[in-house]
Amino acid sequence: MFSIPVGKHQQRSKSMHGQKRIMVTGGTGFLGSFLCERLLREGNDVLCVDNFYTGSRDNVLHLLDDPRFEILRHDITFPLYVEIDEIYNLACPASPVHYQHDPVQTVKTNVHGAINMLGLAKRTKAKIFQASTSEVYGDPAVHPQPEEYRGSVSPIGPRACYDEGKRCAETLFFDYHRQYGVEIRVARIFNTYGPRMQTNDGRVVSNFIVQALRNEPITIFGDGRQTRSFCYVDDLIDGFIRLMAAPAGVTGPINLGNPGEFQVRELAEMVIEMTGSKSGIVFKALPIDDPTQRKPDISRATQQLGWQPKVNLREGLERTIAYFEWKLSGGVNNRFS
Ligand code: NAD
Repeated sequence: MFSIPVGKHQQRSKSMHGQKRIMVTGGTGFLGSFLCERLLREGNDVLCVDNFYTGSRDNVLHLLDDPRFEILRHDITFPLYVEIDEIYNLACPASPVHYQHDPVQTVKTNVHGAINMLGLAKRTKAKIFQASTSEVYGDPAVHPQPEEYRGSVSPIGPRACYDEGKRCAETLFFDYHRQYGVEIRVARIFNTYGPRMQTNDGRVVSNFIVQALRNEPITIFGDGRQTRSFCYVDDLIDGFIRLMAAPAGVTGPINLGNPGEFQVRELAEMVIEMTGSKSGIVFKALPIDDPTQRKPDISRATQQLGWQPKVNLREGLERTIAYFEWKLSGGVNNRFS
């Protein structure tokens, strides 16, 4: 007789193991893959939902044999009906090159995606986490940026699909919380780096490392004096877990990032030195709306979550450089962490 197979996350009963069933949207991406790994390690059932826009099966290949891990190819701009206890909503391309490639889809992922995931959380009474961003602060007039700062974002520029999309998603999270009592957690993530970033990712750390390892000129946009803060992926994931586990009143928004502040030029020089590269540096025009400075004020995360980053830039770069060396030499099946 014909029967439709039922995935374990469509069953109404609790997980077979009595553990939480946790959904991670964007689970095959850079941050999502580390999060899935961590949640599995803690004994949960994990449903990884991804449309593979910037994600890759390679990032989770080593998890596929785990019976508690399941992947669903799905675009969150469409509704999803599963039974779930917690949702981490990470789906959205994070690199400007990728999110500007199809800006309308980026807005849809942020806005329709948030509505669909919040609707799911409301129906299943699941707690839901939103991966928001420091980009909600735009080109900030306040430095470092505390959560109270309302930001300086162009609603019509080429970055707006991401920045304003994420701002609208935050609005939706807080409205679902106030109007329907959905339990929310909103993290504002600052630049994070580590293994499993794509070689063509377009973000500054991966760009510099790949160019240095290939002995190609390192491209700096602007004069290189703009500042950024770089958080190592393990520290960030630890912040996610702490925020999700925090008492009900702790909704966020809460900054998660490394407050160490570096000029982009300093980063380039550090990467050249650490890779022993022969690369020189070339300067190109600064893209429109590129922020001139970025540094999180993490007092709230420290007070409310007892969280602060542990991995310094040099240590994190060492691990990330080792990954890209392996990747550029043809490495697959990504266990790197
Ligand atoms: P990433 O591009 O590596 O991962 C994003 C994942 O989302 C990919 O697997 C992609 O295929 C998936 N995706 C995109 N659109 C989708 C859709 N419509 N439906 C289903 N899946 C979709 O990026 P990342 O660095 O892992 O970022 C994860 C999240 O964290 C993003 O929401 C991003 O905005 C946020 N964030 C990241 C950083 C950072 O420095 N990495 C900083 C701030 C915010």
